[in-house]
Amino acid sequence: MNDARRLARARAALVDLGINPFRSVREVYDDLRQTKSGGYATFLGTNIYKAKLSEKRGVLTGIQYLSPSDEAGIEGFTLCPFASEGCGDGCINRTGRNTAHGALTARRKRTLRWFLDEERAVHDFYGEVLMLEGRAIRDNFMATVRADGTSDDRFWSKLPWWRDARPKFYDYTKSFPRMMEFLFIKDYPKNYHLTFSRSELNDAQCDTILRHGGNVAVVFDTVPDSFRGRPVVCGDDSDLRFLDPKGVWVGLTAKGKLRQNASTFKADAVTSC
Ligand code: SF4
Repeated sequence: MNDARRLARARAALVDLGINPFRSVREVYDDLRQTKSGGYATFLGTNIYKAKLSEKRGVLTGIQYLSPSDEAGIEGFTLCPFASEGCGDGCINRTGRNTAHGALTARRKRTLRWFLDEERAVHDFYGEVLMLEGRAIRDNFMATVRADGTSDDRFWSKLPWWRDARPKFYDYTKSFPRMMEFLFIKDYPKNYHLTFSRSELNDAQCDTILRHGGNVAVVFDTVPDSFRGRPVVCGDDSDLRFLDPKGVWVGLTAKGKLRQNASTFKADAVTSC
């Protein structure tokens, strides 16, 4: 896709953000990578509740929050090809500080950067990962990166050096093929860990994954100790999924609007435990 077509597809989203789309991709990208005060707008955040939990365990975590599903407003574009209806209230973009206007704007701007100029986005992202590694070494932490914090698009693998990168990368996914690759491809990079996410549509896939030693994140009103004959580890205490034992459920407590409704996105709305 050429630059003109990309800009045309992103035009409404850019106008909505008050950014003039009738310029070169380079100029538009320059605007998108600037904060209001003229500083550099980062892809990775570390001042995030889940990242702070990791720090208590000696792990410095950078999380990238992009626009889930079609939130960015780019024509014909989604970052969550396996999103279900239940994601509407279940996605973490609908909880806590993620609902603030500033957070929404930041997610949209980051997504537009990746969409408009992936090469430059990779370069910027790489720089941030190096900075994160540097901070981790200085402060005697382990470095980790969650590139798909609110997306499901293999962002870590867009980086040409990802197989050899030193930080541990980890993600959650609703893509069954992606999860099966992780479980079955023998030379899968050791620096990557993936947890499957249950939705109201994929219970059979969850069973298959668990039987093959994969882990499945699942939302409950109240996280039980076991579910459908398997142990549940608490996913609220830590986001460091690569430390979990194999073949377990990862229980997450419903948050935001999901807490108040009977959505089958929550497992205990379907089967009592
Ligand atoms: S797939 Fe995940 S990130 Fe995407 S909309 Fe659903 S819950 Fe959110």
